[in-house]
Amino acid sequence: MSHIIILGAGVTGLQTAISLLSSPSTSNYKVTVIASHVPGDRSSDYTSPWAGGDWRSSASLSLEDSEVREWDKKTYDHWMMSLDDSVEEETTEAKECRLGLGRRMISYFWGADDSETTGHDGSGLWWKNDVRDFKILNLEDKIEVPKGGGAVFGIEFQSVCINVPRYLEILLDRAKNLGANVVRKEIKTSKGLVGVVRDAKQVILALVNCSGLSARNFVTKAEADRLFPIRGQTVLVKGEAKMGRSYTKIPNTNDQEVLYVIPRPGSGTTMLGGCKQSQNWNCEVDNDLSERILDRVKREGLAEELRSGKGGEFEVISAQVGLRPGRHGGPRVELEKNGPVEDIYIVHAYGHAGAGYQNSVGSAEKVTKIIRGLV
Ligand SMILES: Cc1cc2nc3c(=O)[nH]c(=O)nc-3n(C[C@H](O)[C@H](O)[C@H](O)COP(=O)(O)OP(=O)(O)OC[C@H]3O[C@@H](n4cnc5c(N)ncnc54)[C@H](O)[C@@H]3O)c2cc1C
Repeated sequence: MSHIIILGAGVTGLQTAISLLSSPSTSNYKVTVIASHVPGDRSSDYTSPWAGGDWRSSASLSLEDSEVREWDKKTYDHWMMSLDDSVEEETTEAKECRLGLGRRMISYFWGADDSETTGHDGSGLWWKNDVRDFKILNLEDKIEVPKGGGAVFGIEFQSVCINVPRYLEILLDRAKNLGANVVRKEIKTSKGLVGVVRDAKQVILALVNCSGLSARNFVTKAEADRLFPIRGQTVLVKGEAKMGRSYTKIPNTNDQEVLYVIPRPGSGTTMLGGCKQSQNWNCEVDNDLSERILDRVKREGLAEELRSGKGGEFEVISAQVGLRPGRHGGPRVELEKNGPVEDIYIVHAYGHAGAGYQNSVGSAEKVTKIIRGLV
């Protein structure tokens, strides 16, 4: 029996295990997930628990983003299909709890024009016709627009919001139920990819490298130089916003700071964000930034229903930081070009930046296709 090792138990590694074990041509493989961090753990070396998270494709219309567009579409369709499927007499709340996902309308605003706002008709957004209930907002009519008055374009569509901790637990359970063996172990990286394979080696056909930003510790120097953190800070507050909201390129605001409101279905909580600070490795919470996040959401009036605390404040549960696994050139999902290492094929799947969840189903299917081609 062929044995596949997946290095990493974030959203990429777990979804890859599920894809491999549920695809007819690879379902008889033995799959072992090796990871130093698994769902339930929190570490700056483990990005997945820190995600917002929702579906809002950031892929552009350019040729080089065509594969990521396909992944995002597959993930959106897959999640929507799961949410459409009904178990008899199941309430929406029970279904969202079973899946760790929920459909939510999301409004999205731009404070300055860019390629996405081209024509102010949605033609700059490749996914306009692929998502449900897409609508261009009339900024004059809409009641809920940023109150600061600077928005130049706005849209609304049906997205999927993720109850991140729950979703990761569900992926872990699903992978195990399909037969994956999950081993908590830190693989030694000091001797590069050869060392990684030697440490992970059993009777294996391939090692799937889903190690996120940590891949920089054992890939070649040129490849490691392509990897960089995109720091994200969020504030978790009490209450579930009735819809998601997002505002980017906010007038008079540092380019690296954005606004988002992402309800976590079934959790009674909402994530407020945030920032996208490239090359910033600092994992400490910046209290001033947390204040700016709360003030901005208040100022723009984009989560009024959550201001249930004393004096109309948000009820803050926690503030946290995560590092999105950025990579110059986009995610690396491919067979190692230099051939097998120690007779083991290497398939890389890392560098998904701020899109690991929305890429996950499509990216994992690509890994499965590559592995299928090895035999
Ligand atoms: C604030 C924030 C908001 C975000 N919002 C969204 C969103 O709305 N939508 C979206 O799609 N994405 C979002 N993201 C991005 C998303 O979280 C990441 O793209 C995704 O989590 C990356 O997952 P991964 O599995 O590739 O890596 P990780 O989650 O980092 O997993 C890496 C795994 O590899 C293991 N590992 C690494 N090295 C070793 C070793 N030597 N030995 C053993 N194990 C090892 C780790 O233990 C871990 O299990 C957000 C991220 C942040 C920080």
